[in-house]
Amino acid sequence: MEDFLKQLPKLAKDKNKENKKFFKQLKNKPPKQLDVLMQELHEDEFKRTDCLSCANCCKTTGPLFTDKDVTRIAKFLKMKPQHFIATYLRIDEDNDYVLQSLPCTFLGQDNMCLIYDVRPKACAEFPHTDRRKFQQISHLTIKNVEICPAAYNIVEEMKKRLQ
Ligand code: SF4
Ligand code: SF4
Repeated sequence: MEDFLKQLPKLAKDKNKENKKFFKQLKNKPPKQLDVLMQELHEDEFKRTDCLSCANCCKTTGPLFTDKDVTRIAKFLKMKPQHFIATYLRIDEDNDYVLQSLPCTFLGQDNMCLIYDVRPKACAEFPHTDRRKFQQISHLTIKNVEICPAAYNIVEEMKKRLQ
């Protein structure tokens, strides 16, 4: 995994043009069975990929925190929501709550998430490769393949299966 993570930025950069073209075509003409295919590719990939040997998403990009996330996590940490916000979050350029610093404060040394059961929805759903109408998040996916080995592999497999 370590070697793959080192190579990933270059691999993703080399595929960037091809991926943009592929997702443009996908958006214009999504195949009927895309939701089923994505479910299958996502499940297959995460049988092989061990997130605990990676945690690159937690180290390099943080989630956004919805109000519901804040309420749930603050309760879990026995903090007032406003205190939780002041301690860990900031507002970004899109007016969303994001982490003040990276790697994520809640990432343990063993790559375990210290708030796993109540983690933000965005963390639970990352890298979103099993969501319905996957063609609608192409812009995000093209970015995610730069940091997530699983997303990179899934997109490569998609191209093989659909082209
Ligand atoms: S979701 Fe992707 S980036 Fe995050 S830990 Fe798993 S493989 Fe790594
Ligand atoms: S909250 Fe947990 S899953 Fe989300 S970025 Fe932090 S350590 Fe990773």
